[in-house]
Amino acid sequence: MSPTVSIAVLTRDLRVHDNPTLHGAATDGDAVVPLFVLDRAILRSDYNRPNRARFLVECLRDLDTSLEERGAGLVVREGEWVREVMRVAREVRAVSIHVAGDVTAYARRRVERLRDALPAGVDLVVHDETLFVVPPGALLPSGAGKDHMAVFTPYFRKWSSLGTRAPAPTPRALELPAGLPKGRLPAADAVAKGAVSPDLATGGESEGRRRMASWLRAGLEDYDDDHDALGNDNTSRLSPYLHFGALSPVELARKAGESRSTAAQAFVRQVAWRDFYAQVLAARPDATTVDYRPRGDRWHHSGAELAAWKAGRTGYPVVDAGMRQLAREGWMHNRARLITAHFLCKTLYIDWREGAQHFVDLLLDADVPSNTMNWQWVAGTGTDSRFNRAYNVTLQGRRHDPHGAYVRRYVAELADVDEVYLHEPWLLPEDDRERLGYPAPIVDQDEARQRLRAARGLD
Ligand code: FAD
Repeated sequence: MSPTVSIAVLTRDLRVHDNPTLHGAATDGDAVVPLFVLDRAILRSDYNRPNRARFLVECLRDLDTSLEERGAGLVVREGEWVREVMRVAREVRAVSIHVAGDVTAYARRRVERLRDALPAGVDLVVHDETLFVVPPGALLPSGAGKDHMAVFTPYFRKWSSLGTRAPAPTPRALELPAGLPKGRLPAADAVAKGAVSPDLATGGESEGRRRMASWLRAGLEDYDDDHDALGNDNTSRLSPYLHFGALSPVELARKAGESRSTAAQAFVRQVAWRDFYAQVLAARPDATTVDYRPRGDRWHHSGAELAAWKAGRTGYPVVDAGMRQLAREGWMHNRARLITAHFLCKTLYIDWREGAQHFVDLLLDADVPSNTMNWQWVAGTGTDSRFNRAYNVTLQGRRHDPHGAYVRRYVAELADVDEVYLHEPWLLPEDDRERLGYPAPIVDQDEARQRLRAARGLD
């Protein structure tokens, strides 16, 4: 009898540890095809950018090595996603196809098109548990007709009481069907052309696991006190690995949760935000472009102010430090994301969609639900009940970077400025300001915020 073959179509679950998609396919078939399709529709979209292309290719290479060590290897195809999966399914006479359930409208449509294309006798198994600790739809509010939870605190209470599923076993040995060409791993610049940020993290499950182990050993226990302290840089920086599925969120939450410390609990709570936003977006997929809770905004248009914000030349040191960290590392500290996003939406009163796309252009972890819903939260069109809150970014800088370590690290012009002036360089004597070459503030933030106040009827 010929061996039964199953396919694991990997998407953003690029790992061998705790991967229910891969494990499901491995238990279904005598032979398994771990398949990654470079989806041409995504390659041509505004989402495909050089920083993430490089990280993706590093993840694919690392995954290929791990799969080869187990006897198989990664099979790679490029083209129209459904057509390519179907082509491989026909070639190997697959009995089943396993894939992770995802939340965007595009990802869901793609799986539905695959379901429609499959002939009778080939099973499609969608693993909703692969990408999240608690999958969208698993927790619903009480009350008829409600399809998602819109407030984090009650969501987190339910999330915590649910417990985490047992991790899927890591396959020890895998066998590819005989005669199937593996295809070639792509080069990063064939995925997206253009310059990458100079200080990008390295992609891949092996690197992700190294970082997770070192975080759990040496960073986690200070998280509670430190996670907002910009200069200390003591957050896990695991978000890109979680985004590409090079790390399992279940494994991370379980391992961190083994410590009952306040710091560990604070960290696990943060990981739950990822699931929270995923279930919001799953229920409201149009929130990527449409206000979740419209406030009647008529956003201010200023190409010059938007360009200064993107370039990290607003004249507000903590804002500029955040934007320059993003350009340099393809990553930004959460507190800096909050400050820079507030400055764009609430001070400059520029549309959150402009900011969200700029983050997508550069972030390694750019994730449709987390990016969209955090931007909407900051803009006051999302799930924040205090939707008109507006930071004074100078006070935010003083509070979260009191000695200016973060500003000095990213804003070279201010590296040697006396601490007293660091968050208000406009108070320096004129000669000093000219010598530094750091811009004057592009707007007076208190005056600028009047646009928001007037537009939202707050006066
Ligand atoms: P840690 O503090 O170590 O937290 C651990 C993990 O918890 C993170 O890796 C992440 O998966 C999750 N997490 C933490 N905070 C949040 C949050 N507010 N929302 C959702 N998940 C969270 N995160 C993304 O992963 N992708 C994005 O595209 C993204 N865009 C953002 C845009 C804005 C405007 C803001 C304010 C936040 C955004 N975040 C996004 C959330 C957060 O800033 C990052 O997850 C975090 O900075 C990643 O760093 P870390 O891994 O060191 O986080």
